[in-house]
Amino acid sequence: MDTTDKKESFWMHTPLDKMTPSQWESLCDGCGKCCLLKVQEAETQQVRTTKICCWLLNTTTCQCSNYKERFRYVDNCIQLKPTNVESITWLPKSCAYRLVKEKKALPNWHPLITKDPQSTVKSGNSVKSFVVHPALVNKAIITYLLEETIH
Ligand code: SF4
Ligand code: SF4
Repeated sequence: MDTTDKKESFWMHTPLDKMTPSQWESLCDGCGKCCLLKVQEAETQQVRTTKICCWLLNTTTCQCSNYKERFRYVDNCIQLKPTNVESITWLPKSCAYRLVKEKKALPNWHPLITKDPQSTVKSGNSVKSFVVHPALVNKAIITYLLEETIH
């Protein structure tokens, strides 16, 4: 593998905590799965992911509509870091950060492999086909679901 190949496939040999900010950002596949609302069962504490997304998610592109300022608008948006990837148990199995942490290969539809930023959505591996924006859901139902399950 020459230097160019090594640079291009940085995720195969660079630990998460050694990645540059741009490498770190490029690792995200843009699936939108981590932007789905979660509920925690009161009895079992099990976290379940719903089909309703955070209000800031663009449901067409599956990208955050204000990524730079997201923490100003969404209090509970989690900042993924090398130190918390392992402990966030609800990250989907397909999450590229989780895969790299577990020393697994990225899927062939990942934008870093395809060189197409839209390949996650085009290949049907994003939330696009089922996600529901909260603006389209009765607010009382969301409030009820969250109050009954999150503690
Ligand atoms: S689940 Fe992982 S790969 Fe998918 S959008 Fe979230 S951080 Fe990116
Ligand atoms: S603020 Fe943006 S990145 Fe954070 S959960 Fe919402 S849509 Fe996702």
